[in-house]
Amino acid sequence: MTELPGDADHRKYVVHTYGCQMNEHDSERIAGLLEADGLVRAESDADADVVVLNTCCIRENADNKLYGNLGHLKTWKAKKDGRQIVVSGCLAQKDQDKVAERAGHVDVVMGTHNVHRAAELLEAAKSSDAPITEILEAAVVDDHAMFPSALPVQREKAYNSWVTIQIGCDNNCAFCIVPAVRGEEMSRPYADIVTEVEELARDGVTEVTLLGQNVNSYGRDLQLAARQAGDESAKLRPLFSDLLRDVGAVEGIRRVRYTSPHPKDMRPDTFAAMTETAAVCEHLHYPLQSGSDRVLALMHRGYTADRYLTRLAEARATIPDLAVSTDIIVGFPGETDDDFERTLEVAAAAEYDYAYTFIFSPREGTEAADMQADFVDPKVASERFDRLRVVVERSAVAKHQARVGLVEEVLVEGPSKKDPSVLSGRTRQNKLVHFAPPADMARRLRTGSYANVEVTSAASHHLIGEFVEHVADASHTVRIPVASL
Ligand code: SF4
Repeated sequence: MTELPGDADHRKYVVHTYGCQMNEHDSERIAGLLEADGLVRAESDADADVVVLNTCCIRENADNKLYGNLGHLKTWKAKKDGRQIVVSGCLAQKDQDKVAERAGHVDVVMGTHNVHRAAELLEAAKSSDAPITEILEAAVVDDHAMFPSALPVQREKAYNSWVTIQIGCDNNCAFCIVPAVRGEEMSRPYADIVTEVEELARDGVTEVTLLGQNVNSYGRDLQLAARQAGDESAKLRPLFSDLLRDVGAVEGIRRVRYTSPHPKDMRPDTFAAMTETAAVCEHLHYPLQSGSDRVLALMHRGYTADRYLTRLAEARATIPDLAVSTDIIVGFPGETDDDFERTLEVAAAAEYDYAYTFIFSPREGTEAADMQADFVDPKVASERFDRLRVVVERSAVAKHQARVGLVEEVLVEGPSKKDPSVLSGRTRQNKLVHFAPPADMARRLRTGSYANVEVTSAASHHLIGEFVEHVADASHTVRIPVASL
């Protein structure tokens, strides 16, 4: 095989991530694999030999953005021999042939189940004139591909980490492409998850976020598999609530979060585990999508607005001081004024701390994309969106104002982007707080440390506070860059 220019030194890579936390975590794995293969991170495309575009097909216009970026990268690639381009992620999974056809200068197209093959595919592409496409339709059992968390990971932050507990999704929400591109739901073996969290804690990580498309159905497939193998004792375990308790008990882990649960699978034992496990944060992301039972049925969500609100009341009754966030889609095909009024009512009753609101836009390959005859007029959808924003902002401001005067534990994330003399961090409720560190504390309050901060004022998206006391030092190692001689 011909040695490419730059092989003698370390080749450099950049990973650009589009989309959700699952993609962010996949990007960390791709980076980990490339670094295990001897590449080092580049500051920018200009400095890189390998550019990875880890795509998402959930966001609007994702394909136009991808082909736009690939157009720029054609010029980038031509400027230096040996440069390579990888397209990975959901859009690569869905549009594998289209990517290779429309952008012949791409070197590797790999799907969501092929992350573990990143380094090998790049190597193979060095001697290929055409894009190498490798897309597995499902995760491979008995192989590390099944749970790529077992692969090397180059984490973006040293003090917190995503931990994949499940991949794929068995639901069929009419607007969602995830089941088509991520495959069937598979739970990661329980012991592997706990072991990974123990290793992360030893590495100085103090906050973990358990990650899956439908986390509270975690273990359902493991129970089925165990029962099929004749183990009747597997009837009730493992449950997601067991996992919360065991991960929360790992020494050194101060905060456990999770995303995303599905309201139809929410159970009281999860609320009990949240309140009885000190490390599990008082924050629940609880996606509503619509407040109309008719639209929820069209979406195949599997719950009614009433059941949703009843479960939410149970959660709040069980978990003191719980913050709640949500996702809501406005203008789903067939949504009438009356349906939208129900959404406003439920959003007002739920009193969210914050909400991610979206105007429906069709995703090719989903059931909802074929409902063109019922698409809502964009002007009407936009007006509804604005009205919903008013309702969710009102409760967000009220919830934030209710924090004024309280002392909150803050995990320091680093200097504020707008004012480097101010530190930013997150409360246990996942609210963003800005505060000025006292001069004698500036060095101690480094990224990953914990401080108590009194909240002095509130806006809809952040809090302002005053430092009260230092709680814990950052326990991860700071990497000091060493210049090569
Ligand atoms: S639960 Fe629904 S919205 Fe969530 S990933 Fe599965 S199909 Fe998509």
